[in-house]
Amino acid sequence: DNRIDDLQRSEEELKGLYTNLRFRYQEYQNQELKLDMSRGKPCPEQLELSKELLTILDAKEPIQARDGTDCLNYGGLDGLPEAKELFAEVLSVSPQEVIIGGNASLNMMHDTITNAMLFGLPGSELPWGRLPKVKFLCPSPGYDRHFAICELLGIEMIIVDLTPEGPDMDQVERLIAEDDQIKGIWCVPKYSNPEGITYSDRTVDRLATMRTKAKDFRIFWDDAYTVHHLTDQPDELKNILATCKEAGHPDRVFMYTSTSKVTFPGSGIGVMAASEDNLTFIRKKLSIQTIGPDKVNQLRHVRFLKNAAQMKQHMEKHAAIIKPKFDVVLQKLEAALGDMNIATWSKPNGGYFISLNTLDGCAREVVAMAKQAGVTLTHAGATFPYGQDPRDRNIRIAPTYPSLEELEKAIEVLCICVQLVSLDKRLS
Ligand code: PLP
Repeated sequence: DNRIDDLQRSEEELKGLYTNLRFRYQEYQNQELKLDMSRGKPCPEQLELSKELLTILDAKEPIQARDGTDCLNYGGLDGLPEAKELFAEVLSVSPQEVIIGGNASLNMMHDTITNAMLFGLPGSELPWGRLPKVKFLCPSPGYDRHFAICELLGIEMIIVDLTPEGPDMDQVERLIAEDDQIKGIWCVPKYSNPEGITYSDRTVDRLATMRTKAKDFRIFWDDAYTVHHLTDQPDELKNILATCKEAGHPDRVFMYTSTSKVTFPGSGIGVMAASEDNLTFIRKKLSIQTIGPDKVNQLRHVRFLKNAAQMKQHMEKHAAIIKPKFDVVLQKLEAALGDMNIATWSKPNGGYFISLNTLDGCAREVVAMAKQAGVTLTHAGATFPYGQDPRDRNIRIAPTYPSLEELEKAIEVLCICVQLVSLDKRLS
């Protein structure tokens, strides 16, 4: 409902406020700003933290893995043993349950699902692509590139509400128990993109134990932000692979993570983890797709990041740079919109985003209006399947890339737009 009655102001007062906001908006337009809050990527100072990666291998020494593998040559399909060990520690699984890939985990997710469509997965009676219809549950708001994979492959997406504890499990359990065309669910279980929530233990338990009509149902567990804390009291996430094993469903989950926002996006390493049966299937397909991954990159990452404890220290340096940016956004939102009852927003303990909800039916207009004043936001709807936010209210804010000064201005503009569009609805 599009009321801002809580302002407790008369029509007259609201019109006065509107005129004032219009004037301020015009002032910003005159400044010809060029500010971008759409990109969930590290800022240059964050990239500096990993520059040692470029020199950590000594050309005068053998570029050799622990087991003697010459990393400059072909050999090895699924990752260096020391890289598997490092990420096994990060994901709390065993090294045999890990495959280290190329430079992107999204690539591994895409390939897993494409393989499922072409060949089926362990437990499948038919390749998914031979079925009349394949559906995925998509807790939303979520990550647009997950949804893009489904759209590309013709997988029908079903929106599931996201609660502060994860997907609405009543909805998930009901849908999954009655429809064998539902083959998967997308999960960003920690500091989710964009809501910043972490799944509760109860949610993990229910995902692992729920009865699924499809025998070859899979959870796509994209733990992209597993080490990306913003506080020294990080969220804790229950181990999904262990929980699935205990529940007698060891093959139910594919886990993914990467160092894209630990070291260099585009030059990091992608990682997946799953049961032995699942990984045997993946390795078979992988052996046709590639002769092997970039071992040089794996070796320098292991030498640089060393172990989970060292990685934690490295991530604290990231947090020192980006926490003030999150704080500025939150302070500005609170100052401008805190008492207006026209918007709500997330206050994440980690990850890369702040998620803003306007009144229903306002997000598209707010984003368009901000754009006209030189502030680029992720396009409204992007956080939902097919780019369609059913309530047209979610806006994803990416605070990491802009400078503090740029952020302050951009959020001021955004807040003016949220107020103007909300008032417009109220006054029209
Ligand atoms: N998964 C999530 C949830 C993300 O937010 C992102 C990047 O924004 C990625 C995956 C991309 O990861 P990668 O660079 O490893 O492909």
